[in-house]
Amino acid sequence: MKNIFVTREIPEVGLQMLRDNGYVVDVNFDHKIPTQDEIISMVSKKQYDAVITLLTDRIDTKVFDALPSVRMYSNYAVGFDNIDTVEAKKRGIIVANTPSPESSSAVAEHTIALLLALGRKIVEADRFTKEGKYSGWDPMNFLGESIKGKTLGLVGLGRIGKQTASLAKSLGLNILYTDVVKCDEVESSCNAVYVERLEDLLPKVDFLSIHVPLLDSTRHLINSKTISLMKKSAILINTSRGPVVEEKALVSALESGVIAGAGLDVFEFEPKISERLIAFSNVILTPHIASATLEAREEMSRTVASNIISFFETGVASNAINK
Ligand code: NAD
Repeated sequence: MKNIFVTREIPEVGLQMLRDNGYVVDVNFDHKIPTQDEIISMVSKKQYDAVITLLTDRIDTKVFDALPSVRMYSNYAVGFDNIDTVEAKKRGIIVANTPSPESSSAVAEHTIALLLALGRKIVEADRFTKEGKYSGWDPMNFLGESIKGKTLGLVGLGRIGKQTASLAKSLGLNILYTDVVKCDEVESSCNAVYVERLEDLLPKVDFLSIHVPLLDSTRHLINSKTISLMKKSAILINTSRGPVVEEKALVSALESGVIAGAGLDVFEFEPKISERLIAFSNVILTPHIASATLEAREEMSRTVASNIISFFETGVASNAINK
């Protein structure tokens, strides 16, 4: 019999899968994000074999030292920058994540929703209308630009980048992408064009959307120098991880009109967001909800469970990051 701890409530479907397979599952039902010390304290109460963690949980040496019975961390997220996977590997601790077609398409849909909302000024127009400022049809009111025919630049063409390319193609956007690897499949299915260097892609795009993981090589990939290469009319969208964009540089660029707007689902210091960023009318902010569809979150719940079951039944965890 294996004991599993879940650091916060997730959809029941995966937890039931674990129980049906003979696992004992304990859930912390408090919706407040636990501190690292609180996680250690909760998981120390029993000999837990695996922990289902969230992206808000910092799992590093201190946790590994304090919880020697835990052999696996199944992270309820695609990104795993919250876990020290190198240290885990040294200790033979397995870390797994939850990529799935459902979560990739949910994030791609959210990316396109931000793109459309910014391009067509939906949020500004909503506010204007609700504030009672609409006094009758005006040919010049909220003039936006056509999305069709514009150019979208994708930074990272993995699972989410590919889904975004496919949706963007149906809107008539031209697609450029940069990645450490070329993808012939998307080049032929979406007429996407590969640009090897980010610096060469930036001046060419009307919308720039970020889909890389947070790594040492991608932290502050978008900074004052790279933003300055973008068109003045360009819009930046980030649904990947906050620290990929240097928030201070983005705020300055928006203040001085270096770019025209931004759509952000993630923030460098989340949940803290700069007051100056909040004040812009040409910026749309969402609270890290890009994968928040019922379908995606239930699939993620099934995946964290099947990662654990596969590890304890076969010795090989599905979706293991640090095999
Ligand atoms: P993925 O691993 O399938 O794709 C990432 C791509 O980035 C790969 O093609 C990789 O080659 C490329 N890449 C890596 N380093 C690069 C670099 N320096 N320059 C250019 N390209 C580089 O990942 P994915 O499933 O597409 O997810 C991407 C990220 O989105 C995740 O790591 C996660 O942080 C984030 N995410 C956010 C949400 C959300 O709710 N906002 C949800 C899911 C995922």
